Amino acid sequence: MLVNLTEYFDVQGKAHLSIPYESEKFFDGFEDREILDRTPIELDIVPVGDGKLEISGSLSITLKDKCSRCLDDVNVTVPASFTYTVVKPDGYHELSEEEQLFMDGYSLDADALVYNELLMSLPMKVLCRDDCKGLCPVCFINRNHGECGCDTFVPDPRMAAIMDIFNANKEV
Ligand SMILES: [Zn+2]
Ligand SMILES: [Zn+2]
Repeated sequence: MLVNLTEYFDVQGKAHLSIPYESEKFFDGFEDREILDRTPIELDIVPVGDGKLEISGSLSITLKDKCSRCLDDVNVTVPASFTYTVVKPDGYHELSEEEQLFMDGYSLDADALVYNELLMSLPMKVLCRDDCKGLCPVCFINRNHGECGCDTFVPDPRMAAIMDIFNANKEV
């Protein structure tokens, strides 16, 4: 959502806005993820002099993810909060690229700003629960849902590779 900041540059005191985060999907850098739930973007807008506004905000979204151990579906809530300073485009001073980031004239692209913050808050690894038992390394059954009775002693795969080389050499 574009937020027109024109009036805030010229008033004194703090303003608060609650605006919707409008994106339907969240692109995590690899793929689009469904946004299952979201809070509004809560913005505090404070004039800090020199034609600048300090904008701080927060929101959270809930995404569908997969447990990195057992691959079950997991809902993960991603919170983000940020503080960002914007500069009034007065037409006299050339603004740097950074000062124009997320701004189009007097309008702040809140969705783009928030997307960037959410992306940095995205957890790298998600577990369905802290004690997730993961998949059986033999038959790949999800061990949270039942026991398969496999002999689950599996040597370290790196060790197994070394043993293969060792055995191959022995036969020569
Ligand atoms: Zn799991
Ligand atoms: Zn098994």
